[in-house]
Amino acid sequence: MPAIRPSLLLPIFFAILSYYTISHISTHTATSQLRNRNIALLIAHPDDEAMFFAPTIQSITSPSLNNTLRIICFSTGDADGLGSTRKHELLRSASLLGVPSVNSTVLVHDHPDLQDGMYHSWSKDLVASLLSYSLHQFENGRNDENEDANPQDEVEGDGIPVDTIITFDSYGVSGHRNHISLRTAAQWYIKVYPNKPSISLYTLTSVPLYRKYLGVIDAFISAVIADKATLYAGLDGPVVQEVKYDSGKAPESLMYLSGWEGYRLAQKAMTEGHKSQMIWFRWGWIALSRYMVFNDLKLDTIGYQEY
Ligand SMILES: [Zn+2]
Repeated sequence: MPAIRPSLLLPIFFAILSYYTISHISTHTATSQLRNRNIALLIAHPDDEAMFFAPTIQSITSPSLNNTLRIICFSTGDADGLGSTRKHELLRSASLLGVPSVNSTVLVHDHPDLQDGMYHSWSKDLVASLLSYSLHQFENGRNDENEDANPQDEVEGDGIPVDTIITFDSYGVSGHRNHISLRTAAQWYIKVYPNKPSISLYTLTSVPLYRKYLGVIDAFISAVIADKATLYAGLDGPVVQEVKYDSGKAPESLMYLSGWEGYRLAQKAMTEGHKSQMIWFRWGWIALSRYMVFNDLKLDTIGYQEY
């Protein structure tokens, strides 16, 4: 038997890794997918959508899935006095990522108590209140008395209530308090606001620092972890998740892996959409971060709890 040349080992390794990852995630996506959903993505700052959620946005806006997507951004990211610029950059980025009609589907709030700050937690009551207002506006049309709305835009209601919310998890990718506040406020909104349809809340999985910069390789690691969880669940008998609030048949986890074009589009959303944010270290992020090419989200089955 001829010996395998060492120089061939690396390509063979990557071929096996790619095959395993793609086949796992394709299988997962075929059975766990958001379809016919009215979705709101909650972000804290303009550029969160491109830096963290690009694979999700590109996938769920696929026409074949028949979803609608709205993005609610809870600050203008005005830490450097660039709030107005960044707001317009968000619209450009969202459009590049495939969000239709961004003037009416992307809403940016600019509240004095919701300013950009890594160590500043936002009031869950305030964020939940703005969330409630935003969802009402998307459903029923613009309320001109509210100054938080995009002043230049008309928002026409479509009469369809949001049934799915996507946002950060309890670590917010980087421990950023603004990110974490969105998850707490979304849970709070779901728990306390009356007269709304049931809502599925999905949160973007945070990973340890060493996995953040593994790019597509981390999709492989995530696939292995998911397989292992499935295996253990199988050994212990079927696991039935108790969902305290949910709209019914919501998948427990979602995985979105971008191809080369999707990865490049996510980079473009940053380099051409968020030009003001492309300082040196962000080039490292858009080149290496797993979030530029892969997202895994979990259904929040617990809901709001006092910590
Ligand atoms: Zn952010």
